[in-house]
Amino acid sequence: MAAKRADIVVIGGGPAGYTAAIFAARSGADVLLADKARRPLMKLRISGKGRCNLTNNCTDEEFFDNIFRGGRFLRSAESRFGPHDIMDFVQGLGVPLKTERGRRVFPVSDRADDVAQALIDEAKRCGVRVIREEVKDIEQNDGEVTSVMTTSGRIGCSAAVLATGGRSYPATGSTGDGYAMASRLGHSVSGTYPALVSLTCREEWCAQAEGLSLRNVKLTCRKKKKVLFSEQGEMLFTSKGISGPLVLTLSSLIAGEDPESLDTWIDLKPSLDAQTLDKRLLRDMQEMSNRAFKNSLGELLPKSLIPVIVELSGIDPEKKVNGITAAERNKLRELLKHLPLTVTGTGGWNEAIVTAGGVSTREVDPRTMGSRLVRGLYLAGEILDADGATGGYNLTIAFSTGHAAGIAAAEYLKEKENTEAKDPGYGTGGRSMNAIAIDGPAGAGKSSIAKAAAKELGFIYVDTGALYRAIGLSALRNGIDIQDREGINRLLEVTKVDLGYVDGEQRVFLNGDDVSGQIRTEEVSMAASAVSAQPEVRAFLLDLQRDLARKNDVVMDGRDIGTVVLPEAGCKIFLTASAEERAMRRYKQLLEKGEKADYEAVLEDLRKRDYNDTHREIAPLKLADDGIEIDTTELDLEGSIRKVIETAKEKLGI
Ligand code: C5P
Repeated sequence: MAAKRADIVVIGGGPAGYTAAIFAARSGADVLLADKARRPLMKLRISGKGRCNLTNNCTDEEFFDNIFRGGRFLRSAESRFGPHDIMDFVQGLGVPLKTERGRRVFPVSDRADDVAQALIDEAKRCGVRVIREEVKDIEQNDGEVTSVMTTSGRIGCSAAVLATGGRSYPATGSTGDGYAMASRLGHSVSGTYPALVSLTCREEWCAQAEGLSLRNVKLTCRKKKKVLFSEQGEMLFTSKGISGPLVLTLSSLIAGEDPESLDTWIDLKPSLDAQTLDKRLLRDMQEMSNRAFKNSLGELLPKSLIPVIVELSGIDPEKKVNGITAAERNKLRELLKHLPLTVTGTGGWNEAIVTAGGVSTREVDPRTMGSRLVRGLYLAGEILDADGATGGYNLTIAFSTGHAAGIAAAEYLKEKENTEAKDPGYGTGGRSMNAIAIDGPAGAGKSSIAKAAAKELGFIYVDTGALYRAIGLSALRNGIDIQDREGINRLLEVTKVDLGYVDGEQRVFLNGDDVSGQIRTEEVSMAASAVSAQPEVRAFLLDLQRDLARKNDVVMDGRDIGTVVLPEAGCKIFLTASAEERAMRRYKQLLEKGEKADYEAVLEDLRKRDYNDTHREIAPLKLADDGIEIDTTELDLEGSIRKVIETAKEKLGI
């Protein structure tokens, strides 16, 4: 039977999970690591052919040159726990290391088991409890992790680190269950594909060359006009296609591409340009003029490739070399420089060293590996959409993100304990403040009504639209396309939005500047509506809104206050009016302000915003289950205010 509670539950006993558990425990947290596998760290044990290439002894720059996906995202974690820190960490656990060709780092003993055992011993020494159980789900309440469900019951916790790995080598226990858990919590999971894996090819002749390893050839792959890969190095043929270092890299770069759309070829003579090669062929042919064609290629090609090239060239194998025509020689030259291969697929999950794709890094804070959607949830290792080349880079990702997640989860715990001790507040079991949530479409009169109601009831008024507007304004000011999710994400990293109250009026601050006036333009309205559809933007503003409600009695208006921000609000109102009526009110307001206005244009903008707000995937505008709808089409402002106040008093019992 599982333990009933831990501060932090780490899900997954791979290198990322163990590292997270060790660093969380070293920071003082009570950590439980749950792993369903019979033996922990199985994949680490078989990595590097059982020798464990645990990192790469490289500079930061070299590290990022070898990352295929997630490079930018990994910067922060890598800068705090990069290859050299990992080496210090593992050596500190009593495992001496050595650096081999390609800067690959291995234990001196060449035994991956030594690394695995050192991690297990250290976890034990730090007090990490390990259970052999499968976690089925992570549970949350109010956007905060509360427990995990295992096959034998619920374990309460304040934070969970999801480190279940990817889908590669399923026999080791990496079956991808973590993706489903992350996605049930709202995370986007991109398609996952086997990577660092052999490729299958249509050409049957590959089987003829099985086992042949080519050095110093150039492998190129193009999709339409775009060259996806072109590198010189080593590769080999298998019974079904190709493998070897060049091919593994290629497989990662084309992960998820339709193989049909790719053109792939080998340049068997990359150091000779076409002209020089032609001269060489001419010379060889003069020297061997009396030989049969099939016996003339020994200097040029490895033995097992000769029959393949002879057949593909269409030249009669028995033909005397002096009878070969210029056209035939050209064809031969062309084949040597451009030996085509038709990739049909990969060697699959059983062979893939790593998974390409996974939980979108956009929804994860790069500094902490914390979910931007659920507080107390951390993600580490292969489950994230980040991967790199062979050579220890993928294990580096696991160690470095595990380290960030473990430390951040322990810090989160401390902060949580502090705030709960000092400030028992909204939804935490302490004194609940009164909260009135008012949602509804743009122009339904929410702000005027909410403001008046707040004044009469002595609550503070929180206009959450202003927060989204501030982000919209910031995007416009920085010239970021409002549809550019990555761009907006980067912007959030350097953005600070605050609400303050001056003479009882709410003011909104963007990086310390009062922008309350600048956010009220139509352009900003549209930008706010667009950026508000992004989960990261919503997550970014969530704490601020909840924090205000934790500390004050609030009337808060917006689109998702009753449904997402304050699902426990005592009173939830959904204010609406017909689109025409709302457009008319807005139109009159603009005229009163002395601005030029066109009713039809106002109506159209409003409809567009209504559509955006109600159709977005995340936190769409809708009536909360226990919400009360108030239609103000036929009511004047005073009448609407009265109705809202009456409803609130009744619901809150005040
Ligand atoms: O309420 P206001 O019109 O100022 O909000 C600007 C935009 O911000 C809205 O169109 C809506 O898309 C977005 N918003 C939101 N959730 C909120 C408040 C506003 O998505 N709680």
